[in-house]
Amino acid sequence: MTVQHNYNDFCKPKLNKLLSALKLDKNYIKAEGNYLFTDDGKEVIDFVGGFGVSILGHNHPTLINEMKAALDNRVAINSQCSVRSESANLAQLLNEYIDNGQNYKVNFSNSGAESVEAAIKHAYKVHFDKVRREYERITRILNDFYYKVEREGIDVELPGDENDLIDFRNDLDEYNLNQFESFQKSPVIAGLKGSYHGKTCSPLKVTFNKSYREGFEGLSSIQSAFVDHDKPERLKELVNEMACVFYYPVLVGGKVEIHTLKITRVMAFIMETLQGEGGIKPVPEETLSQLASIHDELKIPFIIDEIQTGCGRLGSIYSYQNTALNAIAPEYITLSKSLGGGLVKIGATLIRGDIYDQDFGILHTSTFAEDDLSARVAIKALELLKENDSELLKRVNVQGGKLLSSLETLQKRYPEIIKNVRGKGLMIGVELTPLRSRSPFFRATGKQGVLSMLVASYLLEYHNIRLLAPLTTMLKGNPGKNRMSILRVQPPATITDEEIDALLTAFTEVLDIIQSNNEYLLVAH
Ligand code: PMP
Repeated sequence: MTVQHNYNDFCKPKLNKLLSALKLDKNYIKAEGNYLFTDDGKEVIDFVGGFGVSILGHNHPTLINEMKAALDNRVAINSQCSVRSESANLAQLLNEYIDNGQNYKVNFSNSGAESVEAAIKHAYKVHFDKVRREYERITRILNDFYYKVEREGIDVELPGDENDLIDFRNDLDEYNLNQFESFQKSPVIAGLKGSYHGKTCSPLKVTFNKSYREGFEGLSSIQSAFVDHDKPERLKELVNEMACVFYYPVLVGGKVEIHTLKITRVMAFIMETLQGEGGIKPVPEETLSQLASIHDELKIPFIIDEIQTGCGRLGSIYSYQNTALNAIAPEYITLSKSLGGGLVKIGATLIRGDIYDQDFGILHTSTFAEDDLSARVAIKALELLKENDSELLKRVNVQGGKLLSSLETLQKRYPEIIKNVRGKGLMIGVELTPLRSRSPFFRATGKQGVLSMLVASYLLEYHNIRLLAPLTTMLKGNPGKNRMSILRVQPPATITDEEIDALLTAFTEVLDIIQSNNEYLLVAH
């Protein structure tokens, strides 16, 4: 029995239509542990895990109790602009797990995108202030030079075809101003190809209060530059190429020499250790090691986006600590998703104390951020991951290892259908091939990337297993372009061997259907 609902009328009509065509339009009315429950009575094993949120499973009883206790005690949720002790406790805990000798100031927010936004905004402010300071210094040097030469009547030989001191000064002044504005107009943020960091645009642009807006105008015209996974050294070139170059005169004997000061427009580099939305792609260890080795020399801050990889998903609180990146003390770390234990919406931006801008805590706030209720639940979620000698974190690697090796075995059995299996911890991707040697139906679906959704539909309909592919596979792509068809496997740490076996049995059934070109069976339901 399908229960009527009004999602189509009042929320997302197109998505509703697509979900309904794929029979994925379920209404989940209850969630517990590794299961979701539909309004028509189905119990579904959840291998999506809220796209990485529910490492602790749904509605963990300890978290519910914590939330209930907080509410029973009438926790102060809306006490903005006060000294918020639970957020401070959470911030302290997040610091304890870093253990690199640095102190991080933690800016809390309500979502992943917001915590990335805070990191970018802070990095922009720090970089902008630096560029402005240098521009002002260069302007002072230019003025001092001009007044000295003019006042003291020094006879100087100007460079190039310049022969008038005032023109010379004005030209340099204008040139330097243009350079300064070029940073303001197009600051750059560098990232890795395939990265994903959120979807919001900047509402600050339409915030009237000048104190909040002033100085951040350039944020709305950020340029991005992406680096290949196997060419991290390109980052060095980018930092060098995308720069403002200021000119200033130096008097050497009677001659005027033009010296330059170069400041990169690249204000930060942002990355995930394992790209989630980009197709479950672990960044190669060699790349991480090269990035770590050039970090100090680059002199630009690194934002390690641990929104999906952190808080347990890869078996630790901060995944970068298990990689070569642990050699550096990242300037920024962003967290969200599992931080809230799957129960509360919370994001955190950790900003290294030595670069922290003291005004930031006033300039960058949000109504719902930093509430004691979310902080209490997040503290409990972290404690659950760490309790009994990090039993759950260890389990992530054990269950993840089983899943990965079983899926790799399937890949070997069906190499024409499964292109690649990859991932770490409980963040695993199964990439399907474009199915060139299959029937026209499978070739078409394979090419468009829709196949993964058909597989998801089958698993849900016949096996009560929830697995999904990125939603973008459902949008119209560029004609002729192959779309990646990838299934993301991100169950909770509590996933059992039996549940993993259920997935493998069901998945094998679908692979057999595709192997035998039996498209009817895949779409018949
Ligand atoms: N960064 C990463 C690495 C993510 O995976 C996501 C969400 N998938 C985000 C940022 C954005 O988080 P949110 O959806 O909560 O805005």
